[in-house]
Amino acid sequence: MEKRVLVLNLDHYPVAVVTVQKAMVLLLMEKAQQLSSYELLEIRTVSRSFPYPAVIRLVQYKHIPYKGVLLNRANLFRRDRGACQYCGSSKQLTIDHVIPRSKGGKTSWTNLVTACNRCNVLKGDKPPEQVGMQLRVAPFTPSLSYFLASYAERQAPEWMPFLASSLEQFQKSRKPQV
Ligand SMILES: [Zn+2]
Repeated sequence: MEKRVLVLNLDHYPVAVVTVQKAMVLLLMEKAQQLSSYELLEIRTVSRSFPYPAVIRLVQYKHIPYKGVLLNRANLFRRDRGACQYCGSSKQLTIDHVIPRSKGGKTSWTNLVTACNRCNVLKGDKPPEQVGMQLRVAPFTPSLSYFLASYAERQAPEWMPFLASSLEQFQKSRKPQV
């Protein structure tokens, strides 16, 4: 499978995850520098080979307004690690409104969970406590760094040193000003 590349801003905060093609364009146009590469992999052209980039950093600061993680089916399943939040099953997954829409429940990160078809049917149009069901984890709004770290853990351990040094600050910097 093709590896993804983590892009850091000039100040080392993660800003994007891109394909290796996009990363090579940024590197060859000298818009980014390579900080880390995937061992044992390389990019081959007819005449040359390059180390396969894992982490690159932009050479100019790019201002990117942070909009939060998009609420969609794929990201919801990812937050819940592909498991029903009632029974833990990973089969026939659907989306459940914890407080049903008919009872005023919202379509939001904190009211949506991954549920298997069976639990969804069992729960029906009721809040979970009314039918004796319990959530394993309270639903939460994920941050970009949460997704980056969970991706890196499984697919790109090369990213970890760069996330570890910026994660805490990154989270702090994303907190709304009071
Ligand atoms: Zn279930």
